[in-house]
Amino acid sequence: MSQEKMNTYCQELAELVAACDPDNPNPELLEKIERHVEQCAECQSAESALDRTVRAFREAEPRGVSSQFEQSLVDQLCRNDDRADQA
Ligand SMILES: [Zn+2]
Repeated sequence: MSQEKMNTYCQELAELVAACDPDNPNPELLEKIERHVEQCAECQSAESALDRTVRAFREAEPRGVSSQFEQSLVDQLCRNDDRADQA
C-alpha cells in the first residue's frame, strides 16, 4: 500500500506493474505488460530501459523465457529502477 509518485507509465501499466510480484514472476502478467507497452505510445515514450528490456524479452527463445530473464524484467518493472545497470 505504499505507492510512491512515479508517473513514468500510464495508469493502466501502473496497475499491471502494481500487480507484479518480484518474488513470483507471472509470465502472463509480463505478457500483458509487454503487449501494453507495444500499443501504448505514452509508455513507449515514457521509458527507454523498459522498452529495451521488453524487446529482449520478445527476442528470447520462443519455447520459453528463462526465469533469470523474467526476474530481470520484473525487477525493472516493479522497482522502476532505470539505473540497475549500464548495459
Ligand atoms: Zn501505457
